[in-house]
Amino acid sequence: MASTEHYVIIGNGVAGNEAACHLRQRDPESRITIITAGRLLFYSRYELPRVFHESCDWRDFLVNPIEYYVKNRINVRRNSFVTHVDAHRKTLNLAHKEEISYSQLLVASGGASYLPAELSDFAPLLNHFNLYSAACKVRDILPSKGKIVMLGGDVLGLDLARNLLKEGYKIILVATEQTFWPHRVDSDERALFLGALRDMGVEVIEEVKIEQIQEGAPGMSARHVIFDDGREIFADVVMPFLGLLPAADFMMGSGVDFERGLLVSTNLRTTDQNIWAAGDVCQIWSSQENQYRFYYGWKNVKKMGEIAARNMTGDDILWETATDHKMYLDENKQIISPYWEHD
Ligand SMILES: Cc1cc2nc3c(=O)[nH]c(=O)nc-3n(C[C@H](O)[C@H](O)[C@H](O)COP(=O)(O)OP(=O)(O)OC[C@H]3O[C@@H](n4cnc5c(N)ncnc54)[C@H](O)[C@@H]3O)c2cc1C
Repeated sequence: MASTEHYVIIGNGVAGNEAACHLRQRDPESRITIITAGRLLFYSRYELPRVFHESCDWRDFLVNPIEYYVKNRINVRRNSFVTHVDAHRKTLNLAHKEEISYSQLLVASGGASYLPAELSDFAPLLNHFNLYSAACKVRDILPSKGKIVMLGGDVLGLDLARNLLKEGYKIILVATEQTFWPHRVDSDERALFLGALRDMGVEVIEEVKIEQIQEGAPGMSARHVIFDDGREIFADVVMPFLGLLPAADFMMGSGVDFERGLLVSTNLRTTDQNIWAAGDVCQIWSSQENQYRFYYGWKNVKKMGEIAARNMTGDDILWETATDHKMYLDENKQIISPYWEHD
């Protein structure tokens, strides 16, 4: 008998696409719908620094060609923003008022760049690097050998920094507690890693707070950053890299337990029988640590997508991390993060 299941996946990233692939293999007759706020099919964000050193367009970043989705009957609803989930009625709502029913829902909506409240006034003067369009914008406004102020760093920013240095750009990093996020580093290690960044050519500024970020004047640099110790920096772009905040506002009031992310047990099921979560949006129960915790990185997120799909179709596989989270210096004193590894 043909499957009557309608699997709906919120999120078109690594977790959502990996899950869709396994759902199709395990339930060939089912309906599968991926819903994404974005305009593009699944592309590799890990590859985005390439916009600086190759002439490329969005097609070069797609992980699967459009034919893949047609052949596997995976319906991708682009440009569709989920505003609400009703776990009781098994429905979700899109911003344009459409309602969609599901038999099982996978929330794989990832995370958005975190911006602390004290920087929110300056948000219009900050450039992000989270989407293809945002990456192209930064590339287009940066003059050759231009100057970038990075707030924080985090593994995404540090990856970009090492790529930009190779292209001759100047990086000024304002160190914060998120500089090596999501790695946990103690103070001795921190000094060592900050030293390695300086050896790479990054100018590191420590123990300062941002007082003002201003728009530059014509003929000057586009941004002017003023610190609480009186220091001032003129730069072309200011970019926040301060970690991620789970993107799951639409789950508020859904009836599903939520802390910073969606809480899931080790089989990736939420507190609702028909709702699962995978990727950067979820906090998985760790019996060793006796708490819910996030697991980041391509390998972890991909594995979560597979486990969620298998469990949605009858297995009971339990989560175990796919990667060792330690950051280290290699024999050339270069920083290596397991989060930079991807297929
Ligand atoms: C530029 C960049 C570089 C990165 N580099 C690294 C790296 O080197 N190493 C590393 O470990 N991690 C890196 N990351 C983080 C990495 O992207 C994530 O760990 C991983 O992609 C998370 O996958 P995901 O499937 O959970 O979510 P995402 O890939 O974030 O996908 C989320 C999806 O959900 C959709 N969505 C969100 N909210 C809604 C809504 N309300 N309605 C509809 N759709 C919605 C989005 O449109 C998107 O399709 C990087 C991230 C960025 C942005």
